[in-house]
Amino acid sequence: MPLVSMRQLLDEAALGSYGVGAFNVNNMEQIQAVMEVARETESPVIVQASRGARSYTNDRFLIHLMWAAAELYPEIPVALHQDHGNSPETCLSAIEQGFTSVMMDGSLLEDGKTPSDFEYNVRVTREVVERAHATGVTVEGELGTLGGIEDGHGSGEVHLTDPEQAVEFVERTGIDALAVAIGTSHGAYKFSKPPDGEVLAMNLIREIHERLPRTHLVMHGSSSVPPELVATINEFGGEMPPSWGVPVQEIQTGIEHGVRKINVDTDARLAMTGAIRRVLAEEPSEFDPRSYLKPARAAMKAVYAERMTQFGQAGHANDYEPKTLDQMRDTYSASIQD
Ligand SMILES: [Zn+2]
Repeated sequence: MPLVSMRQLLDEAALGSYGVGAFNVNNMEQIQAVMEVARETESPVIVQASRGARSYTNDRFLIHLMWAAAELYPEIPVALHQDHGNSPETCLSAIEQGFTSVMMDGSLLEDGKTPSDFEYNVRVTREVVERAHATGVTVEGELGTLGGIEDGHGSGEVHLTDPEQAVEFVERTGIDALAVAIGTSHGAYKFSKPPDGEVLAMNLIREIHERLPRTHLVMHGSSSVPPELVATINEFGGEMPPSWGVPVQEIQTGIEHGVRKINVDTDARLAMTGAIRRVLAEEPSEFDPRSYLKPARAAMKAVYAERMTQFGQAGHANDYEPKTLDQMRDTYSASIQD
């Protein structure tokens, strides 16, 4: 099957009360690991690429790898999503490449660093929605800013999402999914102590979901940073200070309250790096890249399998017939006429 609409994946997840992991990729082994686990666990899945990943893969390598994934795993509904588009141009170029979903992150200006104002965010997001929905492509917006910096993207400041403003934002932009800032951060160093209710504003998710029951919520920066993965890196020569991620239990609470897309990047990076370090340390004469990329792929698979099961998407790959982007386009234009 071709790459599918993210909107449909999230609509189905809402019907089934589960979440869908959105995993960041920039190379073949990551994509293979995601797809193999999706098949083993029968999971619909979102694969996403940041601007950095797009330039690293020169776009065409990425899109052809994803087409290969769709061809080799025809029973798996898989959406390809642009993570943190910094401008309408970035989102439109992703759509031209064949992405089936884009995030217009208008919470920051085009530099990807400076927090923007509300009217700017509404304007650029609305523009992307009009262009994307005309071809059946899904749009995620963001209100509030996350902490941390991801692939050079981020202001480093945290502004939690205001629930009342979220209602106005969704009404004025027509987005399919809303990324909410609840105190999570990008990267491996999210919290310097285990996060509790004070640092992680889960109550905000409940409040936003109550006001916007039909808008799919997105949690960014939702790696759990498992201590054993950090320990493996450090055991084999790494130097990572202790850190705490978002406990899976908190994500599951979010899923009970409207979170349908959960972004996970760091955990797979940690797994990959640890596995490579282990081989290079234990077998210093080895020089075939496959000798460390195969274990790296296996280590990432373990992370993806755990998350797909914990988020609840496992077992749902065959629940529905994926719609084409043309069908999605018709759905969007019908809803405008209503
Ligand atoms: Zn993010």
